[in-house]
Amino acid sequence: MSHFVFDPAPVVSVPVVGADEQFPVHRIYCVGRNYAEHAQEMGHTGREPPFFFMKPADAVVVCPPGQITALPYPSLTANLHHEIELVVAIGVRGKSIPVDQALWHVFGYAVGLDMTRRDLQNDMKKQGRPWCIGKGFDHSAPIGMITPASAIPNIEQADIDLQVNGKPRQHGQISQLIWNVAETIAQLSAAWELQPGDLIYTGTPAGVGPVVTGDVLQGNVTGLKPIAAQVV
Ligand code: MN
Repeated sequence: MSHFVFDPAPVVSVPVVGADEQFPVHRIYCVGRNYAEHAQEMGHTGREPPFFFMKPADAVVVCPPGQITALPYPSLTANLHHEIELVVAIGVRGKSIPVDQALWHVFGYAVGLDMTRRDLQNDMKKQGRPWCIGKGFDHSAPIGMITPASAIPNIEQADIDLQVNGKPRQHGQISQLIWNVAETIAQLSAAWELQPGDLIYTGTPAGVGPVVTGDVLQGNVTGLKPIAAQVV
């Protein structure tokens, strides 16, 4: 067998709660406008079919509990936004998964941030261009430890919130998702075959807004490990 021309990039991984194990990341899928009030604040109404975008796996920034993880302010933007989200970690391969079987494919859940260069995303929207530069940049996917689904019997009952510098910025309930976890998996797996290691950022509740260098973000979902990050 021939050699690689250079060393392959290391496998991106996220630690798992309750085990000395790492969840190896395959792909990062994200759901757009999946809470009604956030859809409204972005200028949309109604229950439109879910839509998806992606971030590169190496956009992950692991935020271990009990630490404030450094989050570099990205280039090219003057309007970096926070979006606190429930992240679903896929453990079992599947395509065209029925809603009633979808949760069987879930390995676990984590708290995540879909960091967004809002000014660039809005420019791309206006021009009908892809969102990559607004969404898929380096360090754009902070995530906390993954809790196995068996320890979270009812994620739909959880609250989700974000504080910036100790002040509430975003708050919602997972039950407010327009497309719930099972429906999201069903729709997503119609378009891509889901693989073990896939992460799904399920969308953000209302209250998105800018952060600047020095700000400390603290995110929570009931029952999951919280995350804390400082923009540097
Ligand atoms: Mn988002």
